[in-house]
Amino acid sequence: MRILLIEDEKDLSSIIKQGLEEEGYIVDVANDGEEGQYMAENYPANVIILDIMLPIVDGLTLLSNIRKKGISTPVILLTARDAVLDKIKGLDTGADDYLTKPFVFGELLARVRTLIRRQSAVKESIVRIADLEINTSTHEVMRGGIHIPLSAREYALLEYLAYHKDNVVSRTDIVEHIYKEDTDMDSNIVDVYINYLRNKIDKDHKEKLIHTVRGAGYMLRTKEV
Ligand code: CA
Repeated sequence: MRILLIEDEKDLSSIIKQGLEEEGYIVDVANDGEEGQYMAENYPANVIILDIMLPIVDGLTLLSNIRKKGISTPVILLTARDAVLDKIKGLDTGADDYLTKPFVFGELLARVRTLIRRQSAVKESIVRIADLEINTSTHEVMRGGIHIPLSAREYALLEYLAYHKDNVVSRTDIVEHIYKEDTDMDSNIVDVYINYLRNKIDKDHKEKLIHTVRGAGYMLRTKEV
């Protein structure tokens, strides 16, 4: 999943970026409102974390601008402790949630996960496909009750497939949401990681859950395509 972080305080933004990356998210950072608006309009993101006090274009103006352009990406506003009016204005302008600075990082993570779930068909923190269980809070993956250790990249790919279970996801979708900007779109990186996942998730099981949809992409589901 891809997150756009618009925050001008460099120390804070690098802490948030690092924490999110450790959770397997791809994070794009903008340091002012103008750059943030450009990125929000031109790069796909699953969630935008938006500071209100920003240079050039402030967060609420940015939010209003992107909503007017029909961009519906969920937005979490970062507000100052005493800025009650900002929160009200923010929600009225189209923010989905807000967090008051200073906040505990775990709370930001929980809110990000909630907004990602809200966009998907998955409404619970544990996604189940046959005997496969993916805990999106702890990143624990089990098949048939047995824990499956995955790398951060493998987990990110599996989670993306899980949030779109029973739907085909294309290689382009995967590259855009799971890999960094400089990933070569023509590379076979997605196929390589799908193979890693198959070895860990499907190899020892009769029922295969990761399916290749010829010419379209991949799908996580119980029945054969
Ligand atoms: Ca700020």
